[in-house]
Amino acid sequence: MAGRKFFVGGNWKMNGDKKSLGELIDTLNGAKVPADTEVVCGAPAIYLDFARSRLEAKVGVAAQNCYKVAKGAFTGEISPAMIKDCGVEWVILGHSERRHVFGENDELIGQKVAHALEGGLGVIACIGEKLDEREAGITEKVVFEQTKAIADNVKDWSKVVLAYEPVWAIGTGKTATPQQAQEVHDKLRQWVKANVSEAVASSVRIIYGGSVTGGTCKELASQKDVDGFLVGGASLKPEFVDIINAKA
Ligand code: PGA
Repeated sequence: MAGRKFFVGGNWKMNGDKKSLGELIDTLNGAKVPADTEVVCGAPAIYLDFARSRLEAKVGVAAQNCYKVAKGAFTGEISPAMIKDCGVEWVILGHSERRHVFGENDELIGQKVAHALEGGLGVIACIGEKLDEREAGITEKVVFEQTKAIADNVKDWSKVVLAYEPVWAIGTGKTATPQQAQEVHDKLRQWVKANVSEAVASSVRIIYGGSVTGGTCKELASQKDVDGFLVGGASLKPEFVDIINAKA
């Protein structure tokens, strides 16, 4: 862990309403957040303001996406400046659902990363291989290419968290084993060391996502290169508090 602050992100995706998210927020506000853990919840765009104004400061808020330019005729999109204007500090970019449901490619994700960082947001940048890619033995090649497209657009790594999320583990109930997660995280850290710098490799947080639950989080969190989680389904449940306290 070497001084890397544990990071637990929740990704609410397109779920909830003001009533249910309000209840979740009440639970989080009442929960114990360890001082050495950073917690950030990814709210739907329309609820960013709501989430930021209702959540206590101990919980950060992230948008789940943003566009690559500041403003203009881009119907349906939101800009980093708008996200900041709502008091929100983070954005999730390159999530597998953006890549595979909405067809976002590495180039667009890279442009978004650059623009979000320029706009002063922290970026949770997601990468991960599909099942056929893992079975074909090209996991490393895939995640290195995705990481390069992100890294080429980063100047200040202190504002970036890398989220390794194998696509086959997302929303499937099939969590990567602690060994599988550690193996890829270690390879990613080595890639960062070789292609960015040794200092960034030792300081950047690499978090795991894919069917993390209250039951699986502790063993995953005990792995040397697992610096936290990005949690989908379980982030909508009180169980998220157990995941926040995975290292406690
Ligand atoms: P999951 O989603 O925890 O429901 O698998 C993780 C994610 O998509 O970030």
